[in-house]
Amino acid sequence: MSKEITARSADYSQWYNDLVLKGGLADYSAVKGCMVIKPYGFALWEAMRDVLDRKFKETGHQNAYFPLFIPKSFLSKEAAHIEGFAKECAVVTHYRLKNDPNGGGVVVDPEAKLEEELIVRPTSETIIWNTYKDWIQSYRDLPLLINQWANVVRWEMRTRLFLRTAEFLWQEGHTAHATAEEAVAETTQMLNVYADFAEHYMAVPVVRGVKTANERFAGAVDTYCIEALMQDGKALQAGTSHFLGQNFAKAFNVQFSNKENKLEYVWATSWGVSTRLIGGLIMVHSDDQGLVLPPRIAPLQVVIVPIFKGEEQKANIDAKVNTLIADLKKLGVSVKYDDSDNNRPGWKFAEYEMKGVPVRIAIGARDIENGVAEVARRDNKTKETLPLEGLAQRIQDLLEEIQQNLFNKAKSYRDEHITRVDTFEEFKQVLDGKAGFVSAHWDGTSETEEKIKELTKATIRCIPLNNPQEEGVCILTGKPSKERVLFARAY
Ligand code: AMP
Repeated sequence: MSKEITARSADYSQWYNDLVLKGGLADYSAVKGCMVIKPYGFALWEAMRDVLDRKFKETGHQNAYFPLFIPKSFLSKEAAHIEGFAKECAVVTHYRLKNDPNGGGVVVDPEAKLEEELIVRPTSETIIWNTYKDWIQSYRDLPLLINQWANVVRWEMRTRLFLRTAEFLWQEGHTAHATAEEAVAETTQMLNVYADFAEHYMAVPVVRGVKTANERFAGAVDTYCIEALMQDGKALQAGTSHFLGQNFAKAFNVQFSNKENKLEYVWATSWGVSTRLIGGLIMVHSDDQGLVLPPRIAPLQVVIVPIFKGEEQKANIDAKVNTLIADLKKLGVSVKYDDSDNNRPGWKFAEYEMKGVPVRIAIGARDIENGVAEVARRDNKTKETLPLEGLAQRIQDLLEEIQQNLFNKAKSYRDEHITRVDTFEEFKQVLDGKAGFVSAHWDGTSETEEKIKELTKATIRCIPLNNPQEEGVCILTGKPSKERVLFARAY
């Protein structure tokens, strides 16, 4: 396959697909809408998963696992929930195949029909709350703080690698609390965990906010979210945290006896991030040469490429490199020495550039004589010659510099792409021009939100938290408004 990457300016969408496919992250599969995550892409997911998992445990959560299948009757117990998910459910109706007596090959055995159909989980609130009924009796059983790492299926019609797939990997937290205040505090705590992860590990700046009724999770009282901005000016919902009120406790009759020995319904939250984060990461930092990965989650942080003629030169380089590798490993830096002789250095440079490895070190025979190495940064493509003496420490510092630089760059871009407008004309101009987030007044109704979406394809991404109150008038209807909200076209 050609390694040529389409330029962002030529075709942004093709550029993205090129990076995913040629960067070795994922492939299309035999099943429409489902992808194969390749080893490099999975290593990236594992790096992200490890950080998040640690953060969940630090905030008191434990991992557990619930079934992939949900009885149809469970999913139907919460009215808003089933209404939201019904459109995209995969349903299991039979449990056996048989040979067609008429020679039609293998067919579904009509006698093996399930008594109750099973839904492949699109999310697990229902099966989990059905279980919590047995786990929760008294206030002493609360709070219950559980997370699950799993795959889910939502039968999406229009899919994009990582960003929107029919099957995706995610984590889903499901917590149970004695009071509404506690559950709301948990919802915001987990939103902050996501925001911190996005900003400090993925180097992706995010807006924290709350969704409008139109965009709320089916079955939630409130949906909080983090929203990121991609390089083409479109927004991406990067994570959600839901306050579910007592909706699922009522649907599954989960009550606890409080300290006064009175029965009360339990309060709930759920929160999730998915493999979509990888799509967002790519779209925020990468360039026309390939992936650009932030050091803190890059599967490989440093690659060393030797440049030599003959065995003697190679042996001299090896000796220095082995010391450097040992020093880097001591500092916790992940490093690969690519001394394979199947490819020339120039080919290797392009390959690691494509894969977004943050730092490349090239060492030649002359460098060894001078006690130096050439160090190249992937983020801004600068190169410098640095002394081998103390190089490991310098590289460790450089990785932090790169991490910070990526965040600053993404943040400047994001901040420059939040535009305040006061008229519908300006609103449309911005969307069709530089795009990004548009901060505008809205009259607070779902009808107006729908109408704006119909006319411009822009949705309300969120009402930012700690939003300043400001009198104004709705850009569409001219009705009074108390605050601005963030609109954007989104993935
Ligand atoms: P939700 O349960 O709808 O709040 O979604 C939880 C998380 O999964 C959010 O961070 C979404 O951005 C993400 N997500 C939702 N649908 C998909 C999909 N089809 N593919 C990948 N990620 C998704």
